[in-house]
Amino acid sequence: MDSDITPTGIEVSNSEQILEIDWSDGHHSEYALFGLRKNCPCVMCRGGHGNMNTFEMELFFVEPTQYFEIKDIKQIGNHAIKIFWSDGHDNGMYQWETLREMCPCEKCYPEQG
Ligand SMILES: [Zn+2]
Ligand SMILES: [Zn+2]
Repeated sequence: MDSDITPTGIEVSNSEQILEIDWSDGHHSEYALFGLRKNCPCVMCRGGHGNMNTFEMELFFVEPTQYFEIKDIKQIGNHAIKIFWSDGHDNGMYQWETLREMCPCEKCYPEQG
């Protein structure tokens, strides 16, 4: 992906359990918090460095078995955000590229449903 595509807006709705991102190329992403938390890119959650870039996209579409809230989001430099989850986990650095790759919309992930 083009590395100068960046978010122009990030919005969290804990009540709707989604995080929305508007991108500088006009794309719009909506992530179910459950899928986003379960796909946390940190080493601990991915189970080792070898799995760093494998995501389980189906987790964005399953019925959540756990309720997660986002307490805070911090931008890391120009390339990532850190998400502070209600379960106390805050190791995950979600890079723009990763987030865009994870986009579960019909265009980016046509296999959904
Ligand atoms: Zn993690
Ligand atoms: Zn998309």
